[in-house]
Amino acid sequence: MKDIAEIRADFPLLNRHVYGRQLVYFDNGATTQKPQCVIDAVNEVYTSYNSNIHRGVHALSDKASEEYEKAREKVRSFINASKREEIIFTSGTTGSINGIAFSFGERFIRPGDEIIISHLEHHANIVPWQMMCERKGAKLRIIPINDAGEILFDEYLKLLSGKTKLVAVTQASNALGTILPVREIISAAHSAKVPVLIDGAQGIQHGVVDVTAMDCDFYVFSGHKIYGPTGIGVMYGKEEWLSDLPPYQGGGDMVENVTFEKTTYNELPFKFEAGTMNFAGAIGLGSALDYVLSIGRENIKARERELLHYATEKLSEIKELKIFGSSDKKISVVSFLLNDIHQYDTGMILDKMGIAVRTGTHCAQPVMDRFGIDGTVRASLCFYNTKEEIDILGTGIEKVITMFA
Ligand code: PMP
Repeated sequence: MKDIAEIRADFPLLNRHVYGRQLVYFDNGATTQKPQCVIDAVNEVYTSYNSNIHRGVHALSDKASEEYEKAREKVRSFINASKREEIIFTSGTTGSINGIAFSFGERFIRPGDEIIISHLEHHANIVPWQMMCERKGAKLRIIPINDAGEILFDEYLKLLSGKTKLVAVTQASNALGTILPVREIISAAHSAKVPVLIDGAQGIQHGVVDVTAMDCDFYVFSGHKIYGPTGIGVMYGKEEWLSDLPPYQGGGDMVENVTFEKTTYNELPFKFEAGTMNFAGAIGLGSALDYVLSIGRENIKARERELLHYATEKLSEIKELKIFGSSDKKISVVSFLLNDIHQYDTGMILDKMGIAVRTGTHCAQPVMDRFGIDGTVRASLCFYNTKEEIDILGTGIEKVITMFA
């Protein structure tokens, strides 16, 4: 593995100063910084071959189409899907879940049916299902969590029934960091003949994701959280599901034949890619995945585990600090509060020291409600962070406490 100085040199933004201080970027759960190769890949699209994909006969369009399809193949290989037809580009996790919720709802959901999600979900994996349930007269069932922020597996098993039509859970909680036992969740659902969607927004960047081994029916993620561009994401679905679902958007490219009387749809994956896709973003995402593979996913996982362990130990020494989310299976996220100091004040003061953390509900309001709080301060770390930065955060927190004493 490259040494940390070399890794950090790959990310130009990490060098910048904020309020005269060297930036400490601990908001990777919200979005990650981009390595130069991703910036270069997107730049190259616009400087040397920008042209709309799939519709042209000229050289530039051919090149753009070829690079876009290469990016699809990179995604397929990265998550170990068996076919390129199973990889749909979308605008991101939110776009993917909304699309599936609409199509799945139209095709399969009847009044009285049930969808199971967990109490740990991001709003992106709650609201689209609520909207679908409202449209179809179906019901949302919630897997409860314990005080450590882990799902209660036995309660999940009790919720699975003949009424269940889909289970949709996150791979890891963005608010607390908890990693969910997705393989067990999927296998229990499959025993009941229920398909499972995994929200991989907080999973894809922290280790090896193998959708074939996991056996999920749908897997979705965002490019910007795995060092790729914004506005691009992925919706993986097993071919047998995708070929059965109706498209959720109509327009150019997703059609085979159009007359005013009847339209037939294009084959997979194009059936779900209506209009001009974010091909520059997809190509940038392909480059980000190459970058992650060059660092090594096992290396990333090991390094982030070490950083999480160090941060948890370091912050736990501060007696005024309480960590939310104490599962022993966590991604590198530390969510905390300082006695009665409001999370927003903590975040604002840390910002003035050049430390970027996120405050608020993290778009997971039900998690906050479960703990009776209105938000936390969240430090989300990734492999380009260092122990020195964690020390700077520790010192910063001590200063916040002193200011409020
Ligand atoms: N699910 C989870 C678990 C997330 O953390 C996020 C982003 N914070 C989303 C979904 C939504 O991702 P996006 O905003 O990129 O669509």
